[in-house]
Amino acid sequence: MIKSKIYQNLLAGADMQDDDNKEYKETTLASVIRARMKRDGKRFWANDNISDYLHESDKEHLLNEATEAFEQVLDALLIDRETDPSSKGTARRLAKMYINEVMSGRYEPAPDATAFPNDSQDRYEGMLVVRSELRSMCSHHHQPVAGVAYIGIIAADKLIGLSKYSRIAQWCARRGTLQEELCVDIAREIQKATEARDLGVYIQMTHGCCENRGIMAHSSLTQTTVLKGAFKDDVGTKKEFFDNIKLQQDFAPR
Ligand SMILES: [Zn+2]
Repeated sequence: MIKSKIYQNLLAGADMQDDDNKEYKETTLASVIRARMKRDGKRFWANDNISDYLHESDKEHLLNEATEAFEQVLDALLIDRETDPSSKGTARRLAKMYINEVMSGRYEPAPDATAFPNDSQDRYEGMLVVRSELRSMCSHHHQPVAGVAYIGIIAADKLIGLSKYSRIAQWCARRGTLQEELCVDIAREIQKATEARDLGVYIQMTHGCCENRGIMAHSSLTQTTVLKGAFKDDVGTKKEFFDNIKLQQDFAPR
C-alpha cells in the first residue's frame, strides 16, 4: 500500500499524537481522511458529499489506493489480471469510474448555480417544471439505477439557469444511494439554490439490482415523491404538478 510519508502535512492538520503518527505512517490517505471525518462526527455514507475533506490533489492518491484495493478484489475472485487482456487495467478503470464518474457527486463540491433576481413587478409567479435525466447506483449492490426526475417549483425571489436543476440533481445522483433518499436530497439542494418554499420532486427509476439479479424483474419501475409547501398542502398545485409531469411524459416518454 502507499505509505503515508507524503501525507505528513495532512497528519499535521489531523491533531494526532506522535504514537498515532507512527501508526498512520503505515497506512493510507483514505484512512487519514476517514479518521478526520470520524473525529469531526462527519457522516460519510455512500450518499454523503465529503468534498470538504478533500483537496484536489488527494483524488489522484485515492485513485491509486482504490486501484490497489480493486486489484486485491480481482485476485480474490481468481481473475487472471496478468494475462487476460480484458482484465488488464480493470482495477484502475474501476477506481477511475467510481471516483470520477459514478460516485463523483461524493467527491466534488456542489455545482455553481448563479441565481437571477425574480423580484420585479412583472416577476414570474408560475410553476416551473424541469425534467432531469438521472444516472445513479444503489448503495446496497452497486448496481446501476437509471431514470428521470421531475422537479417543480413555484418561482420565488430567485431563479437559477434551467440546466442547473439537472446539474444539481445529477450531482446528488452520482453517489451510492437509495431512491427515497435521493428524492429528499434533490428537494433539499434545489430548495437551497432557489430559496423556493413550494417545491415537488417526482422520480421514476429502474434498478439494476432488481433487473440483473435477485428477482430479475425487467420491467419494474420505482416511483418516489417529495412535496413541500403548496405542492403538499394545496390540492390545485399538486394536481398542476402531476398534470405537468403527464405533459412532459407525452413529450418525452421515459
Ligand atoms: Zn440494490
